[in-house]
Amino acid sequence: MDAATRAPYRPGVRKSHFPFILTGILVVAFAEAGTVGVTLVAVGLAVIYLLSLRVHPRINHTGWRGCGGTGRHRGSVFTWTFRKCPGCDGGRLIRRGAGQWGAEHIRHEHARGKAARATAKSGGTWR
Ligand SMILES: [Zn+2]
Repeated sequence: MDAATRAPYRPGVRKSHFPFILTGILVVAFAEAGTVGVTLVAVGLAVIYLLSLRVHPRINHTGWRGCGGTGRHRGSVFTWTFRKCPGCDGGRLIRRGAGQWGAEHIRHEHARGKAARATAKSGGTWR
């Protein structure tokens, strides 16, 4: 196994930087070509976003109250124990937007997953 295979995953573009990158692209477009430039670039970015939803519809469950993509919430006293994460499916989620505008099977999976989690939570069977 070479060094590149063992290295941890480091994204080229961080999610937290993305709003600033998008704003920069739109500002440059406005500076170069005015309102028409901003409109053309915005349409191009929207097309890229919709294609991205098709190609990469899943995301790890991270962020506020997320499980970090593990699908587990550890006990705070008995730290070797865990329960199933109630907010995802084994640490994975359908990406925001893909559940609405993604491929048909992804939209169906999104709806099924949401309904199953809500049913399990209301029935107290999600742990
Ligand atoms: Zn989770």
